Amino acid sequence: MAQAKIIDGRAIAARLREGVAAAAAGLSERHGIVPGLAAIIVGDDPASQIYVRNKARACGAVGLASFEHVLPAGASEADVLAVVHALDVDERVDGVLVQLPLPVHIDARKIVAAIDPAKDVDGFHPFNIGRLWGGETTLVPCTPQGCMIMLRATLPSLAGAEAVVLGRSHIVGRPLAALLIAADCTVTLVHSKSRKIPAICRRADILIAATGEPAMVKADWIKSGATVIDVGTNRIVAPDGVRLVGDVDFAAAREIAGAITPVPGGAGPMTIACLLQNTVLAACRRRGLADPPQFAA
Ligand code: NDP
Repeated sequence: MAQAKIIDGRAIAARLREGVAAAAAGLSERHGIVPGLAAIIVGDDPASQIYVRNKARACGAVGLASFEHVLPAGASEADVLAVVHALDVDERVDGVLVQLPLPVHIDARKIVAAIDPAKDVDGFHPFNIGRLWGGETTLVPCTPQGCMIMLRATLPSLAGAEAVVLGRSHIVGRPLAALLIAADCTVTLVHSKSRKIPAICRRADILIAATGEPAMVKADWIKSGATVIDVGTNRIVAPDGVRLVGDVDFAAAREIAGAITPVPGGAGPMTIACLLQNTVLAACRRRGLADPPQFAA
């Protein structure tokens, strides 16, 4: 059988960012609006700082404003809540995100629940989670949204497909299950207590791995011709240095799957592009403007 088609997340994300840039330019010309994204980081975790700096750069490249609020690791819950409340009422800010994880003395759920749902560009607020499961229009979590865009770019139709999602986290697996249900897939969510995982995976027309277990999904777990999305982003120490690998044994899986995302270059670039898109959507929706035509499903 021929090798799987590579789903090029970088190229799809680049097209999405072009759409965001065009939508942002339209908002600026017609309404004088520059959508703004604010990020809150607590502590000095270098990875979080790099991530937030990359977001600021990505905003600038598509004509969005970005704001960064760095609090010391010892900041109290009240300190963080005060910043969230200030951003909730700041008219320049359309999207508020809190870089997770937060230090253990801060209740992340409380902080996320304080974000104005209209500015919740991560889609983690309980109000937006409820709307997502209700199949209503909402701000959708970025990584799952990126997966859906890649699936739609790959498959002519998702309706009736058997979809298996490995992982049930609040940021990836669960929202993805809601989106796949809304797309008329038949969905199975697998987690660490699931039994017969390889057999469940072999049923999948669409297999999405988000466990954080390097190369967990083997070639013989994959149905011939299936579409495989690998969300996993795992740093491993290999003889040739530190490498980024997914949750799927890519080289072997490529011989069986019909289409597959690489790591890096698949889900990762899509996530940030979807965050930019959500910021523009939030800017429009909270002012009662229609969604930009560039984002039509
Ligand atoms: P979490 O650790 O929050 O969740 C992992 C999930 O996988 C849990 O539901 C867990 O089950 C399940 N799981 C773990 N090991 C197994 C196993 N051996 N068998 C079956 N299920 C298992 O991870 P995240 O969802 O945050 O992230 C998952 C991966 O995706 C990571 O590699 C992360 O780096 C990556 N990621 C990538 C993003 C991107 O932008 N590309 C964004 C977000 C995440 P249980 O619930 O029972 O514990």
